[in-house]
Amino acid sequence: MKCVFCKQGKTHARKVTVERHNRAGEPIAVIHNFPAEVCAVCGEEYYSAKDWQKAERLLAKSPVKVAKVPVYDLRP
Ligand SMILES: [Zn+2]
Repeated sequence: MKCVFCKQGKTHARKVTVERHNRAGEPIAVIHNFPAEVCAVCGEEYYSAKDWQKAERLLAKSPVKVAKVPVYDLRP
């Protein structure tokens, strides 16, 4: 499909890594091998509602691993 973001590139099917965020914008889960259509020009990623539903079911289960990450704040 044609990218609706940059209106120039075409998208290609790829497997990407996506982050799920909470209301504060902090990542709460990482999902590898998420199917996406990725724009060859601007890199915008498009996902299907069906795949998000699949991911929601997956998030209810135990993750393959849990990683703790440090959080920083660049406010002066
Ligand atoms: Zn694009």
